[in-house]
Amino acid sequence: MILLDGKKVAQEIRSKLRDSVTFNIEKGLRAPKLAIVIVGHNPASETYVANKIKACQEVGIEVEKIVMEESIKERELLAMVRRLNRDKSVDGFIVQLPLPEHISEAKVLTAIDFRKDVDGLTPMSMGRAIQGLPAFRSATPSGILELLQAYAIPTEGKHVVVIGRSNIVGKPMAMMLMQRPYLSLPNMSASALGDATVTVCHSKTRRLGAICRTADIIIVAAGSPKLLKANMVKEGAVVIDVGINRMDDASFPRGYRLVGDVDFEAVAPKCSYITPVPGGVGPMTIAMLLKQTSLAYSAKVLGLKMK
Ligand code: NDP
Repeated sequence: MILLDGKKVAQEIRSKLRDSVTFNIEKGLRAPKLAIVIVGHNPASETYVANKIKACQEVGIEVEKIVMEESIKERELLAMVRRLNRDKSVDGFIVQLPLPEHISEAKVLTAIDFRKDVDGLTPMSMGRAIQGLPAFRSATPSGILELLQAYAIPTEGKHVVVIGRSNIVGKPMAMMLMQRPYLSLPNMSASALGDATVTVCHSKTRRLGAICRTADIIIVAAGSPKLLKANMVKEGAVVIDVGINRMDDASFPRGYRLVGDVDFEAVAPKCSYITPVPGGVGPMTIAMLLKQTSLAYSAKVLGLKMK
């Protein structure tokens, strides 16, 4: 069994990005710039945003953090999105999810210009990606493809089971794996992966275990601790654990530890490759955000156009 070390692969991606940012600055060009909008003070969102800001600063990407109060009106957030769409100094931006109940996520995402949608979550980006047109990809599935690629794990002709059908992970993951390989933008090497036969499972799926046992690769994004058990996995399968769940544990400084959706101790011995949690998919997601911000910058400053 080989551990898919997302932390290490993400670090390599970040180090390449840092080199290219430094190179451009030495040539007299400006640094790429990402804006992050956060609404309210959800502790998990604040942690994610802090990690993204730290990662950007490490590679030399400029970040503008925009904090809006929980009580803001939907139209005020939409006005901010429109301002960021127009702002020429901003290459890409994200609106951290989830949003407060009174604001429609769909409306906000739809308002983001796909050329600045470095999280790849807008309907336009996803629609374009489905049709094989240049577009940013959903960061987590993109990161998973990069990780598979870093370990030379092919997907062509493989049966991949994706557990979860969210707009953020499950759906785009399935879509990307079933595509004919294509390039979405220069340097988007991960797009070379695809050509898999994909089964998507969710909470209404019957005989989940039997379906998983036929998989060469299982990608679990359910948000359910230890959902994937050893008897659901065939010998030699590749297992990617997207889940991030907090489990109370007094022996950890914060009083909890992070666990994935896979019963890791029992499943790992059966796998050819498996991701740990933490240190697997999570760092790759952030690396993809940085990479796509850098691509948005290149599209604008270096003239690589997304048409
Ligand atoms: P959602 O809650 O939006 O979606 C979960 C999906 O899993 C749903 O489609 C649901 O089915 C399905 N599901 C839930 N329980 C079961 C079950 N017992 N059997 C089969 N299917 C099930 O979650 P997200 O996709 O946003 O996130 C999934 C997990 O990944 C979470 O733990 C999240 O924290 C983590 N995550 C990690 C990221 C990273 O960078 N590592 C990034 C994004 C998410 P149904 O549709 O029927 O309800």
